[in-house]
Amino acid sequence: MSRGDRVNAPEPCLACDIVSSARPAPGGLLLREGGLVLHAFAGATPLRGWLVLTSERHARAWYDLGPSELASLGPLAARVMNAQRQALGAEHVYAFAIGDALRHFHLHLVPRYPDTPERLRGRGAFDPRPEDALSEEEAVAAVRAVTAYLAGLSPARSP
Ligand SMILES: [Zn+2]
Repeated sequence: MSRGDRVNAPEPCLACDIVSSARPAPGGLLLREGGLVLHAFAGATPLRGWLVLTSERHARAWYDLGPSELASLGPLAARVMNAQRQALGAEHVYAFAIGDALRHFHLHLVPRYPDTPERLRGRGAFDPRPEDALSEEEAVAAVRAVTAYLAGLSPARSP
């Protein structure tokens, strides 16, 4: 696909708006590499450091990514997950690529912590209660910690 596909897209695309910075993600765009952009989840979340890898191109889904994007995706996702574990103390990181609502490739990288309640684990991460939401300060601080770790600026968090 080309940029022209974006122009002909029937509806505005949230992911295109995020990668072009037309709509700022909390903490900004964290990394741009191999045709992919790393940014924080754009909605309210109860889970510190919920990040999203989005294709720069308006690709419908994983199966529409090109060879270079596909080659970047695995190593980059693993690096980000490792940073979420080391910089934030996540015990596990989920990867979700659902793509029903937003039809532009994006991979959710969702940390799970030792104290994450059962109802927010797994698919439950997408169904928080309003009172679960982190403050913007907490959310941005977590994103900055992961970014600093990825940039090699901060040591691993002690267990
Ligand atoms: Zn798009």
